[in-house]
Amino acid sequence: MTVASNLGFPRIGHRRALKTALEAHWAGKSGEAALLREAAALREAHWRHQHGAGLAHIPSGEFSLYDHVLDTATMLGAVPAGYGWDGGGPVSLATYFALARGNAEKPALEMTKWFDTNYHYLVPLLARDQRFVLTENRPLASFREAASSGLRTRPVLLGPVSFLRLAKTTDGSDPLDLLDALVPVYARILRELAEAGAVMVQIDEPVLALDLPARARDAFARAYGALAKAGPELLLASYFGPIGDNLPTVLGLPVAGLHLDLCRGSLDLGPVLEQARPDLALSLGLVNGRNIWRADLRACLATAQRVAEARDARLLMIAPSCSLLHVPLDLAEETGLPAELAGNLAFAMQKLVEIKLIARGLDEGEAAIAAALDESDAAIAARAASDSVHNKAVASRLAEATDAMTRRRSAFPVRRVAQRSALDLPRFPTTTIGSFPQTTEVRRARAAHAKGAIDDAAYDAAIETWTREAISWQEAIGLDVLVHGEFERNDMVQYFGERLAGFAFTRHGWVQSYGSRCVAPPIIWADVSRPAPMTVRWARFAQSLTEKPVKGMLTGPVTVLQWSFVREDIPRETTCRQIALALRDEVADLEDAGIRVIQIDEPALREGLPLRAAERDAYLAWAVDCFRLSASPVRDATQIHTHMCYADFEDILDAIAALDADVISIEATRSRMALLEAFEKRNYPNEIGPGVWDIHSPRVPEAAEMAALLERAAARLDPDRLWVNPDCGLKTRRWDEVRPALENMVAAARRLRAAT
Ligand code: GLN
Ligand code: ZN
Repeated sequence: MTVASNLGFPRIGHRRALKTALEAHWAGKSGEAALLREAAALREAHWRHQHGAGLAHIPSGEFSLYDHVLDTATMLGAVPAGYGWDGGGPVSLATYFALARGNAEKPALEMTKWFDTNYHYLVPLLARDQRFVLTENRPLASFREAASSGLRTRPVLLGPVSFLRLAKTTDGSDPLDLLDALVPVYARILRELAEAGAVMVQIDEPVLALDLPARARDAFARAYGALAKAGPELLLASYFGPIGDNLPTVLGLPVAGLHLDLCRGSLDLGPVLEQARPDLALSLGLVNGRNIWRADLRACLATAQRVAEARDARLLMIAPSCSLLHVPLDLAEETGLPAELAGNLAFAMQKLVEIKLIARGLDEGEAAIAAALDESDAAIAARAASDSVHNKAVASRLAEATDAMTRRRSAFPVRRVAQRSALDLPRFPTTTIGSFPQTTEVRRARAAHAKGAIDDAAYDAAIETWTREAISWQEAIGLDVLVHGEFERNDMVQYFGERLAGFAFTRHGWVQSYGSRCVAPPIIWADVSRPAPMTVRWARFAQSLTEKPVKGMLTGPVTVLQWSFVREDIPRETTCRQIALALRDEVADLEDAGIRVIQIDEPALREGLPLRAAERDAYLAWAVDCFRLSASPVRDATQIHTHMCYADFEDILDAIAALDADVISIEATRSRMALLEAFEKRNYPNEIGPGVWDIHSPRVPEAAEMAALLERAAARLDPDRLWVNPDCGLKTRRWDEVRPALENMVAAARRLRAAT
């Protein structure tokens, strides 16, 4: 019988139960035992759901209290000194959370994005002389826990090569040098699992979706040569893209099974069918674990049938493309979505049903699942024909968009002269990135407004008050380009999504971002257009209060796209262009309303970069084009800013320059301006505001510190092109931090003006 299987289940639980439990524990309101009990209850519930859906291979060991990469590191004894672990036995929960979140003495481990998802993992920190010890066989504990509830599960492990490739060392050595030290610990984990009765173990090696150097490929051969002998059958799982040129390596490994992501890596299927050993079990990742659309069951079944004809059908598994960690839990929770849209969606629970249906269809024939196939066909046909999804006006506007629309009227040097005379700014002009503190008061007013407890007029009046205070305070401390403060905005993508046609919002569609933090991404389900201006009212109001320029503040097209669930019936690029055209109209309206400086934030430009180098140029070309499409309708004298954070811009500097924003503000404090070296080398042509205040920390920097940073910047870049600003928006800070820090920032700029 075809095995219906899963690779991983969302951890956060019904209505974010894990978040509640974790935060209660961190706040000291509940002890370890209570947290562990809640976690065990969640695991049990998740296993039961999957069992109930008819899955034969149910994952265990992929649940985590914070992050599975951290779980792996602590299991292997990869715990840097100073976090309270003595080098023996299990790592305590206190140490575990100290690594995840920092404590009084030590900062948290670095956190970074898990491949191209919005999930963040903690980067293991290793050293040249790293020793690995098995502190606790976590997958074994999980496997036994499930067994004691009467459930047989398939343990999941993060593989040794991916673990090392995702790690960093303190001494610049290559983590892969540690492979031989690591493999015996993995072998022991596997041996113990086999002894406990585990038949097959899923071993995740997602780095196979990346460009790998020969060393890493050799590491696979070495590691799996040894691990395949350890006991249980190994199902090697890769996802998030084609295995591609790593396929010859993979097909040479002595593993029992291979999981393929057939949503993002469908190109692998042909070569695998031709070249794989006949006894290699295949797990077909047909149901998309990265998006919320219902599967095209007929197409999935057809693919499965094609494989079944070519291979030993007894060795087939049907699976999601990757762990279901990246989709919300249950569509049944959503009662407020347009019915038309809801009929096209599937969250984790619904995807389990799809997996089982495909497996059944394969075993029993199409007739056995005829009703489900018909329903799937009907939903897809309805969507294709839907007038709510396809907007002719949007399509024709897109078709008519010209290249000229992506260009400003004049080149930057000409614009610069026009802007200087229009704006009359001092040298080292000071500004901020957009948001001011979202205080309890602000959030309370928004919640009350959303519930209908206060009416529009009362809500608007409150926002007017805060905006007025923000403007007059900025004037008083001497900032040059002001912001309105973004008090009316819940979130930088949601605010726009709620005002654009084509977006929908879930009520409980939470996806884990890191630890207890979740996001509920909007769903772009139809052609995007702008029924009415979105930001003009507040921009105009703020500008009416002052003679100084107030920045209009927009979220850029790439960032809106990147932080949403996106359609798959049209290319991402097309959706991005639709958003860009809507923003272009907003930019034009802001200019008409007398706004002289407009900032289009693109913090997510970098994170949209494809995993494989060969695809990056094409992405950057359309991403840059979309930004320019939104930014270019204005006169020379209107100044366009952009903003980027989450560092690491070096590899996209050409694209950043190609945006041709008049001014870019970037996060730079933590690198102490070192990242400007790349801008210097590249001869970055336009104006730039390297952040001088790390807004992620509650620490208030002194004026002297910020002046010193500015001097470092001025040593690298033309001082006449430098702006002075914090690293990012200030919505997460408190006013008693913001006030002194920005006063110091203005003082720092004045020092530089006087000194140079
Ligand atoms: N304008 C936004 C703000 O200040 C930018 C946020 C961001 O870059 N993430 O909040
Ligand atoms: Zn930012």
